[in-house]
Amino acid sequence: MRGCYRCSGTVGVPCSERYETGEAVVQQADRMQAVAVTPGRAGSARLVEVPQPAAPGPGEALVRVLQAGVCGTDVEITGGLYGAAPAGDDFLILGHESFGVVEDVGPDVHDLAPGDYVAAMVRHPDDCPNCRRGEWDMCIKGDYRERGIRGLHGFMRPYYVERTSHLVLVPAARRTLGVLMEPLSIVEKGLAQIARIQDRMHWEPTTAVVLGAGPIGLLATAVFRVSGYRTFTVARTPRPNSRADLVEQMGAVYLSTQETPVSELGRALGQIDVILEATGNGAVAFEAVHSLGTNGILCLTSVTPGDRRVEVPADTVNMRLVLGNMAVFGAVNANRSHFEQGVRHLEMFEQLWPGVIARLITHRFPLADFAAALEQQQDRESIKVVLDLAG
Ligand SMILES: [Zn+2]
Repeated sequence: MRGCYRCSGTVGVPCSERYETGEAVVQQADRMQAVAVTPGRAGSARLVEVPQPAAPGPGEALVRVLQAGVCGTDVEITGGLYGAAPAGDDFLILGHESFGVVEDVGPDVHDLAPGDYVAAMVRHPDDCPNCRRGEWDMCIKGDYRERGIRGLHGFMRPYYVERTSHLVLVPAARRTLGVLMEPLSIVEKGLAQIARIQDRMHWEPTTAVVLGAGPIGLLATAVFRVSGYRTFTVARTPRPNSRADLVEQMGAVYLSTQETPVSELGRALGQIDVILEATGNGAVAFEAVHSLGTNGILCLTSVTPGDRRVEVPADTVNMRLVLGNMAVFGAVNANRSHFEQGVRHLEMFEQLWPGVIARLITHRFPLADFAAALEQQQDRESIKVVLDLAG
């Protein structure tokens, strides 16, 4: 039986307060350091010392973390905007983007073996009808838990134990890209949903627009290109810049909103079949409707916890949506099918553009430098910042 997660002591016996205060402690051999927050408390990010995980049980694997990605969600959690600790704990280990190597497996595990590279899925299902079918990204009840976000510790730590049903095998040859699997899975869900929704008619799309050139926007650019779309990626910064270079290396066209506003894209480019919004700005969705073509579809992926307000020409937006048979939908999280499609696409990316996708990872920090990593993530020069535990 495992003891208390915080102190390895007997469950029910009060723990030391060192995890609450963040006071530095001497690390013991059976302990490891992790990046954690007190959910809801801004500025509480700190290193905590936790026990090494117990040996994997039936259906589980012990994974050594090689990289943990940092993203805006982590910044928002450390800012106290949301996040929830696991039941019984008063801290939450951060990190929902992970890549690692299996060190050990439980006695009945046959789908993974030590030495396999894996990415972990984020959301753990509840018992709603969708979750029971494996579509936990479409949870209807809302009692799901998410690694590093809500109710489950995340991956900013040297080791974790996970059920193999929540691990996806990544080929060893793609290990430099494995930490991008989680953001890629978000894109894959968007594209999969677009295909299913557009099954409502005969549809021969040719042109896609990606709004935003962060990790999601650039990975979406890559997926649209390997799917055969004429692709335009739109961001604020004028060319030349490093994001524009990446877009062009993938055979897409980079446009700056300083030259072509989002609401003018339709006039500039003609029929736009698909728009994927990944700017982090909730107001952009309403501008994008002005550029969407007939029978087009707009996929929204930005999580926007702010309170931005805009004035919307409601009749114009409504009329465009109605007369153009347009669809607008939101997409969050991803299930196993989307991670597996991401693995297939990583292979295609490397065949088409060797070394290009790896350039999305612009900064690497050791685990102990998590604060610098979180700060770097907010710098406009950063694309993907990772904590590198492999060294
Ligand atoms: Zn559910």
